Amino acid sequence: MPTRDDILTALKGVIDPELGADVVDLGMIRDVRVDGAAVEVDLALTIAECPQRGQLEGDTRRKTLAVPGVDTVTVHTTAMTGEQRSTLMERARLRARERAAPTAVSPTTRVLAVASGKGGVGKSTTTVNLAAALAAAGHRVGILDADIWGFSVPRMLGTSERIAANDDRQLLPVVAHGMEVVSTGLITESEETALMWRGLMLSKALEQFLTQVKWGDLAYLIIDMPPGTGDVQMALSRMLPQAEMLVVTTPQRTAQKVAVRVADMARRSFMPIVGVIENMTSFVCDHGQTYTLFGEGGGDDLAGELDVPVLGRIPLDTALVSGGDDGRPAALFDPTGPAGEAFHALAAAIVAAVPPADATCGVRFDALIAALPPKG
Ligand code: ADP
Repeated sequence: MPTRDDILTALKGVIDPELGADVVDLGMIRDVRVDGAAVEVDLALTIAECPQRGQLEGDTRRKTLAVPGVDTVTVHTTAMTGEQRSTLMERARLRARERAAPTAVSPTTRVLAVASGKGGVGKSTTTVNLAAALAAAGHRVGILDADIWGFSVPRMLGTSERIAANDDRQLLPVVAHGMEVVSTGLITESEETALMWRGLMLSKALEQFLTQVKWGDLAYLIIDMPPGTGDVQMALSRMLPQAEMLVVTTPQRTAQKVAVRVADMARRSFMPIVGVIENMTSFVCDHGQTYTLFGEGGGDDLAGELDVPVLGRIPLDTALVSGGDDGRPAALFDPTGPAGEAFHALAAAIVAAVPPADATCGVRFDALIAALPPKG
């Protein structure tokens, strides 16, 4: 049975984009009541007409539902009193001062971990093309290739540039097609140095990428997760509590079982699942005939089991294969092709489900802080 503490731990992953801190820490969670599998959360917003209201309510709901054993959640939203508001601003100001080093991922960056139960279902292809479609829609996007040994992101983006370090020993992401990219494939000089990475624990490598890389102020950070493995998911949810997961599967019904396991691990580390992406859905030949080469129903089955939506269906498209080999993502170089269109639709669905933090929030926050009287 879920406990109140479980819910509060999960809600630490809900970041107020305006204040850049989590809602528990900010005192915005006024109460949590757990009655078996039914949870009620009292969420207090700074002002009733808070522009982030929908996003905060949605995130609160998803994070709570991600806790094992929770079936239903009701979010009661209220507005803070003047006194509560000033306590909150105190906290926010403290957090702003303590805010992580410039190397860390901004708390307002939406972090989406792309995972699959097994290799070969198109996880990396999906990461790269989804990121590209989000970038094409005008969002500032980063890609973290957490597939430390099986990296394929550099090839898919056509970059062999090396990651450089600045004078402060921070790593600077490589920029490819307008996106910031970090991958062990951009660090290792040879197979031999690649082998050195094998000595590192996966989660340690991920930690380095998250703490030593000078990421820009990204709207979205898309992470290509290594297939399977729970330790990376655990490390990720500990270091980036705002991380959420996208599960890639093929339409084959047996594929769904392995994907469920990954989703289970995510839930155990309080990582909400935004939705399912079905890849290799079907193939439409030049004569317009549709072939379901890899079966049917896998995406819907998985989504049903996880109680999340299918966010997109990507057809089989040779443009993805050649684009992957030539470093020309189909989402950018063939945007009106079958896969290109599907990836742009997927990006739109993701922006709707997980909207980017309003870029003006930071500015408004700074103004709010500046307006407060100085305190010792
Ligand atoms: P994973 O990261 O899950 O191991 P990849 O993204 O490397 O999988 O994809 C495996 C292979 O399948 C690659 O050669 C890729 O080009 C191809 N592929 C992936 N998705 C599609 C698709 N929708 N249509 C055609 N080929 C695809």
